[in-house]
Amino acid sequence: MKKIILNKDRFQYDIHSLFKAFYGNEDVKVIAPGSAEYDDGFFEGIGHHTEMGELNAELGEDITLICFFDEEISEDSLKGSIALLQKEDSDNSVHKYVRSFSDNKSASQNDSVSTNGDVESVDTSKNAVKKIIYTALNKKTGKELPWGSLTGIRPTRIAMNLLEKGKSEEEIADYMKKTYFVSNEKIALSTLIAKREREILKNIDYENGYSLYIGIPFCPTTCLYCSFTSYPIGAYKDMVDDYIKCLKKEIDYVDEDFAGKTIDTVYMGGGTPTTLLPEQMEDLLGYLSEKLDLSHAKEFTVESGRPDSITREKLKAMKKMGVDRISVNPQTMRDETLKLIGRRHTVAQLIEAYNMAREEGFDNINMDIILGLPGENAGDVQYTMDEIAKLMPDDLTVHSLAIKRGSRLYEVLRQKGLDISLINNTEEMMNIASMGAVSMGLKPYYLYRQKNISGNFENTGYAKQGKAGIYNILINEEVQSIVALGAGTVTKRVFGNGRIERCDNVKDVKLYMEQIDEMIARKRSLFNL
Ligand code: SF4
Repeated sequence: MKKIILNKDRFQYDIHSLFKAFYGNEDVKVIAPGSAEYDDGFFEGIGHHTEMGELNAELGEDITLICFFDEEISEDSLKGSIALLQKEDSDNSVHKYVRSFSDNKSASQNDSVSTNGDVESVDTSKNAVKKIIYTALNKKTGKELPWGSLTGIRPTRIAMNLLEKGKSEEEIADYMKKTYFVSNEKIALSTLIAKREREILKNIDYENGYSLYIGIPFCPTTCLYCSFTSYPIGAYKDMVDDYIKCLKKEIDYVDEDFAGKTIDTVYMGGGTPTTLLPEQMEDLLGYLSEKLDLSHAKEFTVESGRPDSITREKLKAMKKMGVDRISVNPQTMRDETLKLIGRRHTVAQLIEAYNMAREEGFDNINMDIILGLPGENAGDVQYTMDEIAKLMPDDLTVHSLAIKRGSRLYEVLRQKGLDISLINNTEEMMNIASMGAVSMGLKPYYLYRQKNISGNFENTGYAKQGKAGIYNILINEEVQSIVALGAGTVTKRVFGNGRIERCDNVKDVKLYMEQIDEMIARKRSLFNL
């Protein structure tokens, strides 16, 4: 286990994410004020402007990071020191790497930390801390991370901001390299995607438009790696009609409060929306198009991710109601892996559902795959890409698996005796997927990262010309308000100055239905701020 000790609860998420990026599936524990193991004595000797004192190896860990914030200049601007302690195996002594940080510059010449307030003007102390930690862990492990010290989920946002300020590609590359140590390859990818996103979004009126999200939180079964709001439809089928009634109430609210605004995109996700019966699907989508003006919507997506939930009747119902983009997700084209991750459908079912969707006239079909699945190596990824190439989807999203300790997947793998630390996405797999996507005529158009993402890589969406999922870009770049209906969904209001306020619907289906009026009232007050 690695330990991180903080004297204040600051930048905890970022520091922890950075450690996890270096140490993969190992446990990283954070001790901060409030936790039982916390002790002020940890910080003796690392005060600002002082020499490193005698910290010993009693902490009992091979690596311990101590982060001491000793002066708070403003909410995001702090001064302090960082010590990375490494216990040497040979003589039990402790190797110490100590650096100081502040909002502007380091405390000593050798500790040079330059921060650039151009983009992250409110973020300079955090970035300084991350740079010191990155440099220390890079020295210790010899590893260079593709995204450097960047721990946020939207690297393209940085490139996008700089493009909007008129910066050249060289200036963007220089900034991302110096500020975050991002690799050349990832800088080029972020810049390419940022340019593509700008092009795709150029006709969207953020001020007078919004996007609509509808959540259907039911699935045929729950995949072992699932981190979404999802309940097995078998146990919930008697509640679905009442759930739809509540969605209709929310649609009525949107009809009343958003009159005069334009709906730019509609996205029905979950869960698996195609767990609805054909008549329920028709009823809900019919109500939606009767109440709201969808004539300006640039896309209408319904996630149909699980092939075991797709029928011809449902496809016909969606087509009739104007749905023009769906996803049919293999995750892998290996049946053994599908069984292991609890998908409970076969590759043959996937191909059948996909062909059926084509026959029903769907000409924009997305597929999702996951890299780093248990038991899979580069050869399996190549096999999956070759099989997908035979189907020629319009859009392909390549995910890196995130296995969290304590998750159902983690426990199942452990019970099967698989070495979890060996389950990882690799650069080779990423290259196979991106080259495979390009050979299918797909180009990268959006990118995001997740916490605990395998190999510290990213998830990337690729699409044919004119088939990019606009909603995917809008939700990632957070440039337009999204009104979200249904259990476990998050409504986001984006103000003109870029400020974002959120409002969550409760996850539990029963509670959502009981509290539907309160859910609507909260949304109403968010948009009346
Ligand atoms: S299909 Fe998606 S939402 Fe449903 S259980 Fe699997 S991962 Fe979760």
